Amino acid sequence: MDASTVAKKHVFSFEEGDGKNKKLLGGKGANLCEMTQIGLNVPPGFVITTEACLDYLASPGRALPAGLIEAVQAHMKALEQKTGKGFGDPENPLLVSVRSGSAISMPGMMDTILNLGLNRETLQGLIHQTDDPRFSYDAYRRFIQLFGKVALGVPDELFDKQFEEVKKKAHAKEDVGLSADDLEEVSERFLKVVEEHTGKPFPKEPFDQLEIAIKAVFSSWMGRRAVDYRKQFRITPDKANGTAVNVVTMVFGNRGNDSATGVGFTRNPGTGENKLYGEYLVNAQGEDVVAGIRTPKPMDRLDVEMPQIAKELAELRDKLESHYREVQDFEFTIERGQLYCLQTRNGKMNAQAMVRTSVEMHNDGLISKEEALLRIEPDLLEQMLFPRLDPKFKAEAVAQGLPASPGAAHGIAVFDADRAEQLGKDMGQKVILVREETKPEDIHGFFASQGILTSRGGKTSHAAVVARGMGKPCVAGAEGIAVDVARREAYVGETSFREGDVITIDGTSGKVYLGQIPTVEPDFTPELGTLLGWADTASKLKVMANADTPDDARRALKYGAVGIGLARTERMFNDVERLPIVIEMIVAETPEQRQAALDRLLPLQRKDFRDLFEVMSPNPVTIRLLDPPIHEFLPDEHQLERELNELHQLAETTRGMAVLAGAMGLLHASDKVRSDLDSMRRLVDPAMVEDAIAKKETMLRKVRALHETNPMLGHRGVRLGISFPEIYQMQIRAILEAAADCAKMGIEIQPQIKVPQVCTKQELIRVKSFVDSIHEEVKQRYGHPVNFKFGTMIEVVRACMRAESLAEAADFFSFGTNDLTQATFSFSREDAENKFLPLYNQSGILQDNPFEVLDVKGVGKLMKLAVEWGKQTRPDIHVGICGEHGGHPASIAFCHEAGLDYVSCSAPRVPVARLAAAHAALHA
Ligand code: ADP
Ligand code: MG
Ligand code: MG
Repeated sequence: MDASTVAKKHVFSFEEGDGKNKKLLGGKGANLCEMTQIGLNVPPGFVITTEACLDYLASPGRALPAGLIEAVQAHMKALEQKTGKGFGDPENPLLVSVRSGSAISMPGMMDTILNLGLNRETLQGLIHQTDDPRFSYDAYRRFIQLFGKVALGVPDELFDKQFEEVKKKAHAKEDVGLSADDLEEVSERFLKVVEEHTGKPFPKEPFDQLEIAIKAVFSSWMGRRAVDYRKQFRITPDKANGTAVNVVTMVFGNRGNDSATGVGFTRNPGTGENKLYGEYLVNAQGEDVVAGIRTPKPMDRLDVEMPQIAKELAELRDKLESHYREVQDFEFTIERGQLYCLQTRNGKMNAQAMVRTSVEMHNDGLISKEEALLRIEPDLLEQMLFPRLDPKFKAEAVAQGLPASPGAAHGIAVFDADRAEQLGKDMGQKVILVREETKPEDIHGFFASQGILTSRGGKTSHAAVVARGMGKPCVAGAEGIAVDVARREAYVGETSFREGDVITIDGTSGKVYLGQIPTVEPDFTPELGTLLGWADTASKLKVMANADTPDDARRALKYGAVGIGLARTERMFNDVERLPIVIEMIVAETPEQRQAALDRLLPLQRKDFRDLFEVMSPNPVTIRLLDPPIHEFLPDEHQLERELNELHQLAETTRGMAVLAGAMGLLHASDKVRSDLDSMRRLVDPAMVEDAIAKKETMLRKVRALHETNPMLGHRGVRLGISFPEIYQMQIRAILEAAADCAKMGIEIQPQIKVPQVCTKQELIRVKSFVDSIHEEVKQRYGHPVNFKFGTMIEVVRACMRAESLAEAADFFSFGTNDLTQATFSFSREDAENKFLPLYNQSGILQDNPFEVLDVKGVGKLMKLAVEWGKQTRPDIHVGICGEHGGHPASIAFCHEAGLDYVSCSAPRVPVARLAAAHAALHA
């Protein structure tokens, strides 16, 4: 043995393993050690480390690390001593489970093997031990199937087929209808299945079984399911590397009606309610609860069925929570009245439950405010803003299942995961995955679906757990639905729906509807208000909103924004009633004509701004002057050409009609004919057509004149404001007059004028001169000055480079990181995202999409420089960000570090940003 092998201890008993070392022992193993050491009733066992797994995978030809087998043997000896049983002992056999578990829990990545150690001889021992042949054969056939499937790669269907045959022969509808003899036959058939499929007899030596199982667990780390899962959830080696193996003495929940198996949450993972939550099955083993084969009973029933155990579970719950100071998701088994805890981990909860438990655990003195904030991933909060079904909409549910993961969703029904992926991901359709029950191999279907519907299984079934983790709505165990996967159809009572039919599921109530049901915005819970209040106290960054309308602004306020960081005025121009005036302004041939149109726009804009100011009073409202190239408001050139063509044809037709009318009038002199002709003439007035042609031609000329080769780098933003000063002047006047109106009404406001696309101070000075002279005028007229701030977007590279100069003319900087990212990379966003960015991301040339995740190294560096230089000129300059990145937690952390004063993001991201800002401050 060389030094490194000596130094590495590969196997730890539950009494000795370090419960904090999840990287080495895996989450499951570390917690089994921890629970053992704090005195909970865990069956004896040991953990083989993730290091051993990595050594195994790295070794040529995949050999177990030196000394591992010996260590395992020694630990098995210890288990024998503890239990008084013998591994392979035909009189009194010791049976174990072999369970995988890495640092991060990956639900269902590798199935657990139960009852390992059974063979024909030890089986007799088990019968003798338990005096229960039926139970023993049941354990045996389960072991053969699980071991065959998991460790030897025998397809499940081969076993299922044999099992069904025996069931048919025995005239048994349910598994429980099978006798010991039937199960013995099943076991024998299973042994044959394995032998035929693998070409070798089923391994009967318990130690051989154990070694094969350990290797299978190790290898599963590189299996497709595991590799896909890690990729999807970005589980990198620094987070979890290799899987540990847990070998645990078997305990049996299927020893009769005083035995059971179940899963529990120390608090309700759907609502956060401070009450034991979970499900159990009497007389059942292991995965029965999770697999959804029988629908389990809710935990409350235990008070009646097994009151003593219910009491013990309540104690277990208290011990787990006070030790872990976190909601626990645990597995337990009751063997003949004896309670064992088989697993615990931090509970995965939806956002509502996370928020409520954070607030309540702090109020109970279990955790600090900081911990209450830090245990919630900011992005999770977006779930709380998930739509729910419109309560006013009356619809009849066709089926009722369990509310397994909240939120409402609609989509077309699909019946298998591959179809879900095809239609949902590749074709971009909204789909609901409908299954009898789901399995780990369906995971790609979850990603592609809006929601999940299953006809079997409980709230802790695979479908429910995975959907909750992903924050997707799920209705589980909707037993009224019969799913026929082969025919891609589901039957519900009298009706049915097939693939392609739209259905709606409500994961909050468990109801299923045919067709699409409208949804409404969710409410802010009081707990969320409390938590975000703590967040605001902890954070340094303020959170503002990007909002253009009073409705947006009200929503932003409700979500806790302390101002508007970006109000885009182009949205106001695009309003259907205003667009004609805007077009008139654009196509105006003379300054007078243009002014006339602007005069009509002025009162409209003034009202827009006044409404925004009023809603947001007394918070700041930052209005960006018109930004896009002006031809964006005009019709498309080709469309105009087509329309002109049609008008010219119509002109000819009307001329023809006039000729026809004349001719007919000469031939028939009756009153009837004359009146018909009149109405025909009135139908289309030739003068009107000519007028329309003239207007369209002017428009077309204008559109052609305004054509730009590269509009996003062309005549837009401040450049437009300088070449058509009347437009900016109108907007500035509207802002200042609205502000003066508010002041007169005693409404406290903070207007801010923001200039887009600036690259030199001279531009700012020019616009500022408009502002100053209009302000002077407004002051004269209203008899008092208006308080306002004047600043600039920073969204071109030169603006960053000249920040110290721009700061001379600006009270604030607002980073427009969408444009700044385009400018820094010289990527146009649409082209990048449609053409090469996915490839860049996949091949690792770029880690992230810089339009989603702020490119800290490049764009961020520019921002830091601009902040530093801007502050040199004006130390109190107010700096924020209003690009989409402003709502992205990692980017928010950067903004905190770069010394920004605020982030501004869309209203639904505001809660996320508030929590992210607190995290940034607490991590700093
Ligand atoms: P997972 O990672 O999928 O949760 P587990 O290793 O927890 O897998 O095992 C799956 C099921 O088998 C659980 O219900 C667990 O309680 C049960 N189980 C595992 N080991 C034992 C054991 N030693 N005795 C009885 N049941 C066990
Ligand atoms: Mg598993
Ligand atoms: Mg488990």
